Amino acid sequence: MTTVKEMQRKPDSASPSRIAALGYAAQSPTSPLAPFRFERREPGPRDVQIEIQYCGVCHSDLHTVRNEWKGTVYPVVPGHEIIGRVTQVGKEVKDFKAGDLAGVGCLVDSCRTCASCRENLEQYCDVGFTLTYNSPDPHTGGVTYGGYSNRIVVDQHFVLRIPEKLNPAAAAPLLCAGVTTYSPLRHWGVGPGHKVGIVGLGGLGHMGVKFARAFGAEVVLFTTSPGKTEDARRLGAHEVVISRDPAAMAAHANSFDFILNTVAASHNLDPFINMLKRDGTLCLVGAPETPHPSPGVLGLIFRRRRLAGSLIGGLKETQEMLDFCGQHGIVSDIEMIPIQGINEAYERMLKSDVKYRFVIDMGSLAKDERRER
Ligand code: NAP
Ligand code: ZN
Ligand code: ZN
Repeated sequence: MTTVKEMQRKPDSASPSRIAALGYAAQSPTSPLAPFRFERREPGPRDVQIEIQYCGVCHSDLHTVRNEWKGTVYPVVPGHEIIGRVTQVGKEVKDFKAGDLAGVGCLVDSCRTCASCRENLEQYCDVGFTLTYNSPDPHTGGVTYGGYSNRIVVDQHFVLRIPEKLNPAAAAPLLCAGVTTYSPLRHWGVGPGHKVGIVGLGGLGHMGVKFARAFGAEVVLFTTSPGKTEDARRLGAHEVVISRDPAAMAAHANSFDFILNTVAASHNLDPFINMLKRDGTLCLVGAPETPHPSPGVLGLIFRRRRLAGSLIGGLKETQEMLDFCGQHGIVSDIEMIPIQGINEAYERMLKSDVKYRFVIDMGSLAKDERRER
């Protein structure tokens, strides 16, 4: 690793056409995140360079850092809920200029030509997309590094416009938690007259509650944490059910049009399937390390219920979601942390103790710059 001291002795030590960057990386599944120096590409004609101000902390970051989904390449710099100011744009970039507030979510590239990409569903790219971190990086030949860092360079197609009236720190989680809940709620047409369940009140779940309420549905929040009841109501739930209480669960049998499950751990899905009406859908967005036990087949056969999944959202829909949030004043409820607090934040996230999204104030990275001088 090149240290900041070395960078200062050799100010041009970043390779030609590369930009020096500082972030936090994990070096192995068991090591804490710590300062890490690396390089970004110089912006090309279609690229936007962003100085990162805030980055949300998604449970997917933790799954990846600890190699729970396998395939993590170390060192890994997580972070895909990125907000910052544009500092430079390539000559073909029309929609962004220096000084603009901009966002980057989970994707930084896709093939652009397959059927899914042509339908603005880049998240389902048939050829394979490039994730913001832990993906092979076609530009550098290495791996992509995410938003727990001071700057990033991204193709304009994958950069989002952030409504200026939103608090930028609280808007950061919209880039993943926001669109991951907005997209399935829209896809399944959630609206007035629908009874909708949201399972788990974490980063995704609390955005799911806000969107389902904003779309006009009757919203029931399922939680394993009785202490979150009051917050859930404040966030927009009409009713809160403790999912470990079988009697409370049974009272809702056969009554839901749609349930969105955001839980990050393996659990029994049958109680939720049995709460669906005929033709109702249970959509999974939570992606636990180990699979859920297989649901009972009869619960699906009787009443023609459906079990589904959904992955983040395409770029067009992410922009639509951000604009919707701008119009309706919707942001995430956040706890701001300095980057030096990230390892402790992960421990709290594992205990479901987040209200309701950690966001890193990336200005805090300056402390590590100074420390290494
Ligand atoms: P989070 O903030 O940690 O929230 C997860 C919530 O699940 C917790 O707050 C807790 O809510 C509930 N929970 C945790 N352990 C549980 C258990 N053992 N049994 C029942 N409930 C439990 O995580 P997040 O950032 O929202 O992410 C949630 C999941 O979605 C992760 O697996 C993440 O990787 C995945 N994800 C998927 C996509 C996608 O595109 N599909 C995108 C982003 C994230 P209560 O305290 O209310 O019970
Ligand atoms: Zn995420
Ligand atoms: Zn494609």
